[in-house]
Amino acid sequence: MTINIAIDGPVASGKSTIAKRLAELLNYVHIDTGAMYRAVAIKAARLHLDWENEPALFRMLDSTDFAFTPTGELIVDGVAVGSDIRTQEAAIGASTVSRHPLIRARLVAIQQAITRSKGFILDGRDIGTVVLPDAELKIFQVADVRERAKRRTAEYVAKGLTVDFDEVLEDLKQRDANDMNRQHSPLTKAEDAVIVDTSHLTIEEAVALILPMVRERIRRTETHD
Ligand code: C5P
Repeated sequence: MTINIAIDGPVASGKSTIAKRLAELLNYVHIDTGAMYRAVAIKAARLHLDWENEPALFRMLDSTDFAFTPTGELIVDGVAVGSDIRTQEAAIGASTVSRHPLIRARLVAIQQAITRSKGFILDGRDIGTVVLPDAELKIFQVADVRERAKRRTAEYVAKGLTVDFDEVLEDLKQRDANDMNRQHSPLTKAEDAVIVDTSHLTIEEAVALILPMVRERIRRTETHD
């Protein structure tokens, strides 16, 4: 028996890393929905489209193909998205383009189409509330804002990028505010989501906390079927 798992939470709370690890252990497919919004922003920038121009972005999506490898890696227009979506520019662009309801509707439809079957772990901002309201397990992952900024700074440094901690902290606070205060599908905890605070947890500790929840939900699903 397999289930679907929704992981939501603010910027750099460790959602993707933990989702990826869980997917490996459970043999599930991890879909990073943030990567889709980032890819939209990057493609728009390449085409010199304004991130605020919703109609133009929507038209761009008509000729944009999203596909996923069997392990859940995102392919856009036939090309695997690489590290170019992991920049601060892409993050800021994603935060802007994700405010537009037409863009959200298109990406949510794609996410829902691929998760008609079970065995998926999706991470994002609106998974438990909008994309997979019936997910058997919903996690709302949080962490102290300075801890998150520290992790994000370390990630950028590991990639050889020069970044300033205070700038990363401000950017992160700004993106959280955008995500929580936007009109359409703001970041909120689904009523039935379990809060996991990763401020003082390693990845393995967080995974060890979540795995028994997964097993319990699988058991519960089996007894209900
Ligand atoms: O998760 P990540 O930081 O890569 O996401 C980039 C941005 O995309 C977020 O700040 C958010 O604005 C947007 N996003 C969203 N809904 C999702 C996933 C990401 O609005 N499901």
